[in-house]
Amino acid sequence: MSNKKIVIIEDEPDILEVLSYNLKREGFEVFSAINGTLGLSIVEKELPDLVLLDLMLPGMDGIEICSTVKANPATQNTLIIMVTAKGEESDIVLGLGVGADDYISKPFSPKELVARVKAVLRRGVLVETTSQTDKVEVGQLVIDSTKYEVIIEGREVRLTATEFRLLHYLASNPGRVFSREQLLSRAMGDDVVVVDRNIDVHIRGIRKKMDMEPPLIETIRGVGYRLRDTA
Ligand code: CA
Repeated sequence: MSNKKIVIIEDEPDILEVLSYNLKREGFEVFSAINGTLGLSIVEKELPDLVLLDLMLPGMDGIEICSTVKANPATQNTLIIMVTAKGEESDIVLGLGVGADDYISKPFSPKELVARVKAVLRRGVLVETTSQTDKVEVGQLVIDSTKYEVIIEGREVRLTATEFRLLHYLASNPGRVFSREQLLSRAMGDDVVVVDRNIDVHIRGIRKKMDMEPPLIETIRGVGYRLRDTA
């Protein structure tokens, strides 16, 4: 993990210092910015692996920075973790919609943050097209799209075409949170096979057939869903 570059954009100096200290101690190369404009220029100059981005910033806010970074071919593969205030689910949905890779809500411990940073770096960039990967394995889940087969804990689970695509997409990006809108457009696209465009219905269907407690697909309240990262 060492030598990875991280840019922290955070306008509260105390938080910035704690984050910076803890990430440096883990061997990361850390750059800090106390406002969005400065942060964006550092990102464009340093091309970091990951940006820790506070959403509420004076001037250029986190959403604007996130969409700018993700729209620029030079920086679009930069991973972004949004830092949000507690209970701001609508901001999280907005951030995920403009390409943020994950989020962490304040208050959090340095330990939690470091774990999240490492998990996001390990996952890497989003797998946009699932059809390229024939076989996906996450813990006890094995999906084989050539055979259209789903095995969980050794049992075969029979899914509808829509459920299969949804699960395949989530499993191709384990641990990553998606909003319902993202799942609709990315996992399902405009496939005519999808009769019911209500994501919740399909997720319920998958969970029922998998029969796991706790369910492999987690509900992130007010935000969306993710497949548990068992790594
Ligand atoms: Ca702030």
